[in-house]
Amino acid sequence: MAFSSYVRTLRYLWSSLTLKIRIFIDKSIQLAGPFYIFLAVTLISCIIYLFFTTILPSIHSVNSFKGISHVIISIWLIFNVFFNYIYCIKTDPGSPSDFTDVEHDSISSSNGQEASGVAMRWCKNCQKAKPPMTHHCHICKRCILKMDHHCPWMHNCIGFFNYRFFFLFLFYLWIGCAYTTYMASIPLQATDEDEDITQILFTFVLAIAVFFALTGLFWFHVYLVLSAQVYIKFRFSFAFFNQHIYQDLLKS
Ligand SMILES: [Zn+2]
Ligand SMILES: [Zn+2]
Repeated sequence: MAFSSYVRTLRYLWSSLTLKIRIFIDKSIQLAGPFYIFLAVTLISCIIYLFFTTILPSIHSVNSFKGISHVIISIWLIFNVFFNYIYCIKTDPGSPSDFTDVEHDSISSSNGQEASGVAMRWCKNCQKAKPPMTHHCHICKRCILKMDHHCPWMHNCIGFFNYRFFFLFLFYLWIGCAYTTYMASIPLQATDEDEDITQILFTFVLAIAVFFALTGLFWFHVYLVLSAQVYIKFRFSFAFFNQHIYQDLLKS
């Protein structure tokens, strides 16, 4: 067999293997969705429970003015976290058949293009036209309007109709973790050596870990919003940029 035939066979085997791996990963993410939601709710609830039962009583009496003020701030943050989380999960991100002319104009103008001058692309999976910034999600198996990414923690795609809930969820959870970290640090600095600080220390470590994990993600999305991009477009631009650097390096 000629060398080129070997290369063709190897390429075919490699592409069929990567396709099977991708299908397996897509199915796993789809099946694990409810587990991710359960895990997120459990982690957030765990921080809330320890905050009200351990941290807050060790700083202020719940009957005092400061204690009541902290209870009101906490409940306001908890309400916003869960409100945006629930709405992000249950709001349909939007598909090309949902959008009206007004929304089409809005999507097109946010991409810096005139609606009338945009050539529609075609999705071979859905057999439908794709408006600008629409992408096919291989996990949801449909086209998503202004798709940002598929979020396993939401068990949903993040797109045109639910992006604001996703962004606000990140914002309030980030603020909530910063607030919990600060509050947990107060009794940690003031405790005697004899006191049992296991629960406070656990809450502090959990809150600060989630805070640092969210810091990069939240500010990255602030950058995307300010530059009128979605994550999927940023990823393609970055891959395109890397490809050009690689080609330039080969030429030099
Ligand atoms: Zn599609
Ligand atoms: Zn999806």
